[in-house]
Amino acid sequence: MISTMTDCIFCRIVRGEIPSQTVYQNEWVTAFHDIAPKAPVHILIVSNKHLSGPLGVEETDAPIIGEIALAANRIARQLGFAANGFRLVANEGHDGSQSVAHLHFHLLAGRRLGWPPG
Ligand code: 5GP
Ligand code: ZN
Repeated sequence: MISTMTDCIFCRIVRGEIPSQTVYQNEWVTAFHDIAPKAPVHILIVSNKHLSGPLGVEETDAPIIGEIALAANRIARQLGFAANGFRLVANEGHDGSQSVAHLHFHLLAGRRLGWPPG
């Protein structure tokens, strides 16, 4: 399902109305480079369907989460950082410091990432 929210920035990227450096797209998800990278590799994997975030996922949306994991797997192998590892993380709401209310996972790689996050 392709998103229909007109004023959502990630919906507009999914529809190709706003340019992005897309690295992967299928029926369920779209992945593109983050505009303000926090690591040498910083890719956003977003649902093609508009969902507000992890809290907006309903039972019928569960396959989308699997597709996000598969996309991360494929991108990591394709871009050559699977062996070194990566982080796949989604922020939700105020305490999660979510800034865009459209479901997305950050795929971060290319350096040893600190834990726990700040
Ligand atoms: P959040 O803070 O919601 O977890 O993550 C939102 C991410 O979207 C941020 O890392 C931010 O840099 C990225 N972002 C915001 N607007 C755009 C945009 O127009 N294009 C791209 N490629 N990334 C964006
Ligand atoms: Zn959206």
